[in-house]
Amino acid sequence: MSTIYKALKVRLYPSKEQEVLINKTLGCARFIYNQMLAERIAVYENLKEDKRALYEHKYKTEKQYKEEFEFLKEVDSIAIQQSRMNLSMAYQNFFKSLSGKRKGKSGFPKFKKKKSGESYTTSMVNGNIAINFDNREVKLPKIGKVKFRDERTSFDGKIKSATISRTPTGKYFVSLLFEQEFEYAGVTIDDSLITKAIGIDMSLSNFFLDDKGNSPAYERLYRTYEKKLAKLQRRVSKKKLGSANRKKAQHKVNLLHEKIANKRKDFTQKLSTKIVKENTVIVVEHLSLKAMSQALNLGKSIMDLGFSQFINQLQYKSLWNNKVFIQADKWFASSKTCSVCGYKNKDLTLSDREWSCPNCGQNHDRDVNAAKNLKQYGLKDLGLGQPDIKPVERKTAADSLSFESASFLNEAGSPCL
Ligand SMILES: [Zn+2]
Repeated sequence: MSTIYKALKVRLYPSKEQEVLINKTLGCARFIYNQMLAERIAVYENLKEDKRALYEHKYKTEKQYKEEFEFLKEVDSIAIQQSRMNLSMAYQNFFKSLSGKRKGKSGFPKFKKKKSGESYTTSMVNGNIAINFDNREVKLPKIGKVKFRDERTSFDGKIKSATISRTPTGKYFVSLLFEQEFEYAGVTIDDSLITKAIGIDMSLSNFFLDDKGNSPAYERLYRTYEKKLAKLQRRVSKKKLGSANRKKAQHKVNLLHEKIANKRKDFTQKLSTKIVKENTVIVVEHLSLKAMSQALNLGKSIMDLGFSQFINQLQYKSLWNNKVFIQADKWFASSKTCSVCGYKNKDLTLSDREWSCPNCGQNHDRDVNAAKNLKQYGLKDLGLGQPDIKPVERKTAADSLSFESASFLNEAGSPCL
């Protein structure tokens, strides 16, 4: 038994009054964040010479803020609380990144600007959030029951929190985070799995290649829409700053971005469903710096390509369907290792699309070889496929999945459905 988190994101259709209140909450969440940040900066400026006073300083509470700014009382108090938590998280990240405890750079917290796309988060307290599939309504604190549209008629689990967002194009969504208890029925780990395993190597030109050399019918979304996007963006830059025409042009750009994101999601959803249906063991690479630098070379981010979205989908769909999902270790050299003899070709560079093994002479397609290695990696991990390796006892799929579930929890907070 284990717990996983899943997000259900649906489009909301608020009434005029509800829309006003949602916008107000978005504004208040931003306002309190900025007020508290300003307070912290001012206190620091005043007390920076006196470390002790700075350390012991009591910052204003939400209650004090509400007394000072009455309008804050009109909106969901948990959303306000969440803003404070977001700010302290931003500070923590900043300090951790300064001290090197956190990888990557987190800058000093910034003031939030008023934007057309924003969100706020509120959490479940005594049934203040609910979804009714019969009436097609989502109940939200202070906002009340809001109409939603979605194809699903049920969703398992207990609601933990809700993130209400407004897109730059003025649409409203709610992402409900559900907690689910999970039980694995178990997969019998035996040699029959060898023919039901697939190794998948992500590829910029084909989206991916599997160990048999298959690749999906990949619509290169950006290629198709790149020109159109560039044209629309040029139009925006030609319009006067702050003019109604510029806004209109920007709206068109936003709509196209939205369309691309939706197409990409549709593509990865269908593809991940198919792969999980057709295979029992699914082995993927770690989305490494290698992949990212390749993408950056082309001026695109991994997010644009939908790689992490796709791998995340493979992971949770495997969980739902009692399939074994294995992600290779970050350091696993899937491209440089010969899948026939195991020789490690240290001289292989990113531009080598094909190579011959100096040891056994086998010709390799770079990506297919990598996919073959991934498949072997997964089978080895299950104690299968390699005669020189002693089989490891594995009773259920849960054993092989447990080491992944920790990272899964972190990612599930983002709307992944
Ligand atoms: Zn070889």
